[in-house]
Amino acid sequence: MSDIVREAARNADAAWELSRMKKDPAEIVSAVSELHREEAIALGNNFKRFPLGCDLTEIFVGTCASDMEKIDILGNCQLSDAIGASIHVCAYAFADIAEAHGMKGIDLYREVRELTEVPLDLDHFGSFGPMRLPKDIIGCQGQCYNTGPPFSGCPRDRIHSRLLDKEKEAIADREEWVKISSSVAVNVSCVQGAQGHAAPLEEAREIAELAIKFGKVVEAILFVGDGDEDLLRGFTAALELGADVFVIEGGPFNCAKNRLDAFARAVAAARILAPGKVVATNGAYEDECRIGLRAGLNAIITGFPKNHHGYMCGYAPGTARRGNFGLPRVLRIIREEVRDGQTRAPIMKEEVEALARAVKIVGPEHVYPEKIGDCAVGDAHWVCLQSTPLYHRVGISKTAAGISSMAKEGLLGDTVALLGGRFVSWVLARELEGYVDRIIISDTDPRVENVTVENLRGALRMDIEQGGSDDRLSASRSDAAIVCSTIPSINRKISLGVRNPISLL
Ligand code: SF4
Repeated sequence: MSDIVREAARNADAAWELSRMKKDPAEIVSAVSELHREEAIALGNNFKRFPLGCDLTEIFVGTCASDMEKIDILGNCQLSDAIGASIHVCAYAFADIAEAHGMKGIDLYREVRELTEVPLDLDHFGSFGPMRLPKDIIGCQGQCYNTGPPFSGCPRDRIHSRLLDKEKEAIADREEWVKISSSVAVNVSCVQGAQGHAAPLEEAREIAELAIKFGKVVEAILFVGDGDEDLLRGFTAALELGADVFVIEGGPFNCAKNRLDAFARAVAAARILAPGKVVATNGAYEDECRIGLRAGLNAIITGFPKNHHGYMCGYAPGTARRGNFGLPRVLRIIREEVRDGQTRAPIMKEEVEALARAVKIVGPEHVYPEKIGDCAVGDAHWVCLQSTPLYHRVGISKTAAGISSMAKEGLLGDTVALLGGRFVSWVLARELEGYVDRIIISDTDPRVENVTVENLRGALRMDIEQGGSDDRLSASRSDAAIVCSTIPSINRKISLGVRNPISLL
């Protein structure tokens, strides 16, 4: 495995091969631990490319804190929504704010859902619903983050001071919280020696099962720890719970000898192992954020002042403290470390809308964890979007099923060009199987075109050709040309270059 992993760092084709192999977490963690920092970075990047891993970079924003006014949490949520950032929900703080305003936590959560349309990412959720914590925990100034590693357990014994009687009072609303959410986080660091910090694994399992029952994405939060045995225990527990997304926590919880090498390697290994192809961090000092982004992080969870994620990412021992407004700082760090590609870094509302359109076109039943060939269609993001008002708002003009009906009626002819070779083209090609003789795939990125053609040839019984990144020629050799991009500006550009294009938007 060591040789395969090293080769996957050097070569994108080898990474594609590795992504399709059955993988043992122990072998991956061990192989990645042998890599130099630059190799780990290259490896992580190869797994942050279509179709191996989500290639977007985004921010999640913690909008709440127990001592916040209602007007402030609502405004923070609306601001996050306006920039297209998912809202990270610290359930205990929602419950505390609601209580201070004479409301039930679930009613405040519903109000936020009605005011916003981006995904809601639920955290600090236990067997009875939102976890409830005493004042010295919710008002903690970020003691462990400010002190720095090594973390030897929460000095305030956070998890054991939960107010369970209060939690039990809200049990009737438990399922409603999960139904409203797009994703649900569970913390598995109890298997990494943090029994005073995170709930027991059995409680995490119960919440993961609840999330899965309602079709929500499961995120597993785990520490870098020693970067070796601890990390492996975290990955193993997360996979066993059915996690889709890994959230890697560094900061005081990164106790490795060389913190930055360990963080880069943890991100690279997570990229290979995350079933839902998305890797985030909810706690990382500035240097870890930077190296993590270089090694392929998709998301950084940050926050408004008072929210604990407001200081957990982007600062350093001595500067990380409650009250920091991390959001602009993290946004700046991302802009400095990640180059814009087809999409901006971090993504904004327009990109989220494009993604939602893609899910709508292909049909939610066809996306991750569903596969075409050896690879899942889309990633965990594609599932998150389905439970958002934004998904219901965005419009499209045709679905993959509609294209299939057109082909059935003979409206598309024998040869169809699919312009844009990403996941939408995969599902369209499959829907066209049996109704047309030949598909031509054209994408401006030759690697995307290659990998799509190779995967579809292995999965479908029809003639599939490469268009050589030439949309115009591909369209002229076909009876019909379908523009597959769901980003309006790119869709328009492709459409202008061909005669009678069929747009899905
Ligand atoms: S884990 Fe750290 S930030 Fe949280 S309560 Fe304990 S000391 Fe404070």
